[in-house]
Amino acid sequence: MRQNIRGVRLRGRDGTWDVALDGDRIAAVEQSIAGSADREHDGAGCLLSPGFVDGHLHLDKCMLGDVMRPNESQTLQEAIQVTWDHKRDYTPEEIADRAAPVVDAGIVHGTTAVRAFADVDTIGGTVPVEGLLELKRRFEGETHFEVVAFPQEGIFRQPGTDRLLEQCVELGADVVGGLPWYEHTDAAARDHIDFCLELAARSDKDVHMLVDDTDDPYSRTLEYLAVRTAEEGWQGRVSASHCGALAAYDHTHAQKVIGLVKEAGITIFSNTQISLVMDGRNDRGLIRRGTTRIKELLAAGVNVASAQDDVNDPYYPFGKPDQLEVGQYTAHVGHLTYPSELETVFDMITTNPARALRLPDYGIEPGARADLVLIEATNVRDAFRLLPPRRAVFHGGRLVAESSATATRHRADG
Ligand SMILES: [Zn+2]
Repeated sequence: MRQNIRGVRLRGRDGTWDVALDGDRIAAVEQSIAGSADREHDGAGCLLSPGFVDGHLHLDKCMLGDVMRPNESQTLQEAIQVTWDHKRDYTPEEIADRAAPVVDAGIVHGTTAVRAFADVDTIGGTVPVEGLLELKRRFEGETHFEVVAFPQEGIFRQPGTDRLLEQCVELGADVVGGLPWYEHTDAAARDHIDFCLELAARSDKDVHMLVDDTDDPYSRTLEYLAVRTAEEGWQGRVSASHCGALAAYDHTHAQKVIGLVKEAGITIFSNTQISLVMDGRNDRGLIRRGTTRIKELLAAGVNVASAQDDVNDPYYPFGKPDQLEVGQYTAHVGHLTYPSELETVFDMITTNPARALRLPDYGIEPGARADLVLIEATNVRDAFRLLPPRRAVFHGGRLVAESSATATRHRADG
């Protein structure tokens, strides 16, 4: 099917443009395309972007906030225990049913690619991965969906998890996850990284770890991950989320680690909203907010992305999930508010995570995949300022969502 999206604004180009789609591809981008297609869409002068990429989302745990018991001690440790209560009763169907509305919400908000994390441990076994693989089947053709086999309780803290991770890769998990900093010793953390990289190499998978998600300045797994990634030749195939300890290092050490990360071609994901509520809680006086060194990583040329992480679960009560909202938080916390910086933040929810996920043919140009979001704003600033409706979302040329908002203002004398 041929479609035209008429009269849209594009980043980095003046005026309005017509974009022609042919099947799942962009066929042309011109100021005016002659003739009508099978289907015509009115772009109404709105900003057309490649679809948002949410590279870190815990869909097995999402929406537990509606059913979980209260966190009496209001601590991370109890949040983890609350999650365990549910993990014991998970079934793949229950996980898929609970998470499907969250995936739908992401699509409505313009996300066309999601990397979903599933816990792999001796409590839930392979059930969360099975649940997310079921979810992936349900959303076939509607969003790009990757499943990460993620050892949420560590690998060596819970003997048997290594074998479970291998099983999950055999079941069809797309990405090897990791949580090295959570091991009891530095030696075990390094073994954890070695195991994950070896499993990834053996199964030809990308790697996405949660790294140094702590205020502890002596948590130093990012540097080892960077060095080992380069040694294994896995540059461009490894991502690291959170990296809060990097913000806690003294500046000299942080600079060294950032250099190693750049060398290793690792993408850093900032999960800004979750770091804001989870980290720095034991600080008194000047309170750290636990987000990684976003500006310094960007300045060093590291690929930096932003993702939602949690949605209404024992760790975080909010999350729509909406990548524009994620970007808005990142702009606030990272002091990224000047015009060129806002463009950078927009890259952090589009092209940068697309590079991390190695999505082929991503962008708006002839030949690119027609994964697109039409935002009811004329520029990036207003997209972040207003978080407006996404008028249309296309996945592979298929219109998968439309939104509009109406508000009525009643005047006092009316
Ligand atoms: Zn996470």
